[in-house]
Amino acid sequence: MDIGIVGGGINGLCCAWQLQQRGHAVRLYERNRLMAETSSRSSKLLHGGLRYLENLEFRLVREALRERDGWLARVPGLTRPLRLLMPIYRGGRRSRWLIRAGLFLYDALAGRSELPAASWRTAGQILQADPRLRRDGLLGGYSFSDGQMDDRALGLWVAEQAQAAGAVLREHCEVRRVDRSGRLEFADGTSARHERLINVCGPWAERLLEQSGIASPYRLDLVRGSHLVLDLPCPQAYVLEVPCEPRIVFVLPWQGRTLVGTTEVRQALDAPAVCDPSEQDYLLTVIGHYFPSASGPGRVLEAFAGVRPLLHSASNPAQATREYALHRDGALISVFGGKWTTAQALARKVSDHIH
Ligand SMILES: Cc1cc2nc3c(=O)[nH]c(=O)nc-3n(C[C@H](O)[C@H](O)[C@H](O)COP(=O)(O)OP(=O)(O)OC[C@H]3O[C@@H](n4cnc5c(N)ncnc54)[C@H](O)[C@@H]3O)c2cc1C
Repeated sequence: MDIGIVGGGINGLCCAWQLQQRGHAVRLYERNRLMAETSSRSSKLLHGGLRYLENLEFRLVREALRERDGWLARVPGLTRPLRLLMPIYRGGRRSRWLIRAGLFLYDALAGRSELPAASWRTAGQILQADPRLRRDGLLGGYSFSDGQMDDRALGLWVAEQAQAAGAVLREHCEVRRVDRSGRLEFADGTSARHERLINVCGPWAERLLEQSGIASPYRLDLVRGSHLVLDLPCPQAYVLEVPCEPRIVFVLPWQGRTLVGTTEVRQALDAPAVCDPSEQDYLLTVIGHYFPSASGPGRVLEAFAGVRPLLHSASNPAQATREYALHRDGALISVFGGKWTTAQALARKVSDHIH
């Protein structure tokens, strides 16, 4: 079939690659540059999402763990296995036994993964590997496996694969309207028609339908997440409980420095996605708590923010589902939500809707 895709983030690019491989003729339209929005502003983790187990998202975690292993096996040059440490302190919100049970389930959901299973590390072992970590109350911690990637480079690699398979990817090509018959109108007033049209505009998916006068079957919650790059080496990746909150923050090695994130702040679609000073303070406070000698705004090299397209499901964004949904209406298929890690699985589902 002749298929048009609107949106050149990781989900649109994986759809283009998948559909072209299945023998369709694909043309993708991106209003900006490929991989310039949410998909290049992530935490750069290929992960199942340990935290989503707390929201009982077993299906999603299982799928994401398998997709994580798929990326690691397929593109070793742009991905790598990562061992994360979750230190446990006296008086912490989650008990040692709860974390142990969660990690046991995490490893079980990963199936036959080649990554090593979770293991306990004593406080002495942890502090020997990273003496900067706060000592008071440290009981030990669990080390577990996930993956890390260069999100922009990996997305552009997918774009190359799609092009090599024959897909046409057009940048700077904004779509103003779509309709159920497969017709689309561009911002420059021209139009085109495809047998099937896929709206995979991430945070803008609902907006494209609105502009087209089509009622959206799902609502998206737009939640900004910010990261800081600190001028510090990062000998160990951490998952840290935010003191007095159920949230967690990642501290990750990134290009010889330390990446810290993220936040969850509601965002209007037209507002610029930037890290505001209160988010920077929030992240530096967490760093100051766990690494008393390492904080201070002087060490921030870069701050960046992206907007999560979350399916509307809960008033607290931390509890909102990370699941995605597809909706078919005539020749038009719209995608709502979708994690980076699961983009290939999402693309396979979109392909199954093409008939
Ligand atoms: C702070 C943060 C951290 C995250 N960390 C992780 C992580 O570590 N691991 C993970 O798996 N996931 C992570 N995610 C989630 C993941 O990054 C996103 O869910 C994913 O990148 C969404 O990809 P997308 O292709 O749907 O959207 P996008 O990347 O936003 O792509 C949508 C594209 O559509 C284009 N577009 C919009 N409207 C139009 C139009 N009218 N015409 C043409 N083009 C249009 C946009 O320009 C954009 O390029 C994170 C998200 C955030 C915000």
